[in-house]
Amino acid sequence: MPDLIDLRSDTVTRPTPAMRRAMARAEVGDDVFGDDPTVIALQERAAELTGKPAALFVASGTMGNLVSHMAHVPRGGEIIVDAGAHLLQMEAGGYAVITGATARPIEGRPDGTMDPDEVRAAFRPDDPHQPQTALVTLENTNSPKLGRPIDTAYTASLAAVTHERGVPLHIDGARLFNAVVALGTTAEALVRPADSATFCLSKGLSCPVGSMVVGSEDFIVRAHRARKLVGGAMRQSGIVAAAGLVALQDGPEGMIERLAVDHDNARRLAEGLAEMDGIVDIDPATIITNYLVFGLRPRPGQDVLEARTAFMAETGSRGLAYIQYPGGRVRALTHYGIEAGDIEQALDITRASLTAAGLAAVAV
Ligand SMILES: *Cc1c(COP(=O)(O)O)cnc(C)c1O
Repeated sequence: MPDLIDLRSDTVTRPTPAMRRAMARAEVGDDVFGDDPTVIALQERAAELTGKPAALFVASGTMGNLVSHMAHVPRGGEIIVDAGAHLLQMEAGGYAVITGATARPIEGRPDGTMDPDEVRAAFRPDDPHQPQTALVTLENTNSPKLGRPIDTAYTASLAAVTHERGVPLHIDGARLFNAVVALGTTAEALVRPADSATFCLSKGLSCPVGSMVVGSEDFIVRAHRARKLVGGAMRQSGIVAAAGLVALQDGPEGMIERLAVDHDNARRLAEGLAEMDGIVDIDPATIITNYLVFGLRPRPGQDVLEARTAFMAETGSRGLAYIQYPGGRVRALTHYGIEAGDIEQALDITRASLTAAGLAAVAV
């Protein structure tokens, strides 16, 4: 067991021994000249897994979304997107600052989807006073709605709406493979209706660095130019791409199938938390992937933020790290390196911390 049970994010995952070995012996070249064989192999593998003609290796999920949006959206174009999306909330406004786009946020539904009729209604008419709708972006899994996976049927229905207007659909699939495993499907099926997608290697797939962008050859040519513009062209990046190749392989060292363990652990954690006095707003039935959020019931007269500060200080001092979530809530993500035994220990620590922080009415 690790010293710290770190549930802040699946980004805290360290590379596996197989990744370290592959990185040490990776064949490399200068990828700006297009001759790093390991980067080329990773891009081919990402394209194959997602059934898209071409792929591009980028430094982060944020860069993947940025270059995708730069490739799809002209300056002054508008993006229809979930109001809680990572693109709007967590990417430093790059869609506005660099892409030069406006956003038309839509309130997502509890299952993580946007109502296709609302999306249709959000398209702009051909009016010189208004921005022009240029892209619809969908997050899968959807982080504002507890990492809900979104299936192919829905994505196809959304694509039908966007394509009817000649507008492309992009999938921010930072945790696409969590959706793949949770739904028992393939990445190819989930992104088939979309024009482009990104997915992170550095979250549940446990690589040290990197994300992939996939789409048509033309789209990738434009994304490649955008990657250069934002300073994301790298040289002997095969060193890090090698870890991605390990993560995406079939067989025991690959990291896709094992995401099921994270999902089981998240469900178990949610079930344990839901039974605790002092914890509110958690329904284990809604925890389908590796992402959960819960609330705390403050003492009478206590502010929820004070309750959370006290609670998190107690868990932290006992070797358990959660992270703050909007609305005075607390977030936990399960990932590689967290075993079933850690979940039981996390539940014990949480129970003790609630008591120590005076949040559990019933002493345990
Ligand atoms: C993590 C994440 C990203 C990208 O994040 P980076 O930290 O830049 O890799 C993009 N979209 C979603 C939904 C994410 O969860």
